[in-house]
Amino acid sequence: MGKACRWLVVMVGLALVGQAVAAEKISVLIIDGQHNHKWELTTPVLKDMLLKTGRFDVAVATTPRPKAPKEEWEKFKPDFSKCQVVLMNYAGDAWPKEANDGLAKFVEGGGGLVFYHAAVFAFPQWAEWNKMMGMGWRGANYGERVALDDEGKLVKMAKNEGPGSGHGPSHAFEVRVRDKEHPVMKGVPEKWTHVKDELYHGMRGPCENMAILATAFSAKETKGTGMHEPMVWTVAYGKARVFVSVLGHDVSSTAVPDTATLLVRGTEWAATGQVTIPVPAEFNATPGAKAEAK
Ligand code: ZN
Repeated sequence: MGKACRWLVVMVGLALVGQAVAAEKISVLIIDGQHNHKWELTTPVLKDMLLKTGRFDVAVATTPRPKAPKEEWEKFKPDFSKCQVVLMNYAGDAWPKEANDGLAKFVEGGGGLVFYHAAVFAFPQWAEWNKMMGMGWRGANYGERVALDDEGKLVKMAKNEGPGSGHGPSHAFEVRVRDKEHPVMKGVPEKWTHVKDELYHGMRGPCENMAILATAFSAKETKGTGMHEPMVWTVAYGKARVFVSVLGHDVSSTAVPDTATLLVRGTEWAATGQVTIPVPAEFNATPGAKAEAK
């Protein structure tokens, strides 16, 4: 074999190896474009944390602005067939039926779905959507709610029983793992202090097929419920795996090791059912958390 020919073999070989590595990456589609939160600032943070793991390819689909004319919405056609998991950083106008149907078909076919923080505000009128996320930011009259008591027992409350969704003033708070064996939580410290953030309470929804992975105590002194509120949970929706983390109101509470680790591991799990991304040593060393913790 001539020298040039040998080089060709090496180069073709390298190209094939490159392709194989690329094929193993998980395709994530982040959807943003409208929010009562600063999606323009948090989407780059989400994208960066996913890419840093080397495990994902990331695309972003941005919807038209609020109250956009129909012609603009007609151009919003995310190609769900190209991704394995959708990460929602969106809460805004209802989508055209075609986009809803596309997402529903994707999830029904076993596609992964991840809700990040206030994405749980989205689409109160869409019944299947509410089933997908289990529970979200809704009034007390919307549906059931679940939380844990001091003994760690699951308490289910009926519609109109107890509060609707809310949060007290932002503060640093302790997060506790409730399912150590779940792939996303394996290796995560049993409890840790999360940075100053909103502690969501009173989420409401159908609450079907949910598993609570982590909670935070919502103290009455911080205008909370006196219960251990779900912070991270999963929903089994048909063949699909849904992962929800309500941590991360803004950049300063999202670009931190705990929020980021849970989101990237949750995204991997939602896509594949397995988690290979390690829990970093700095998981428990969220900057500033200890100083602000009570
Ligand atoms: Zn928020």
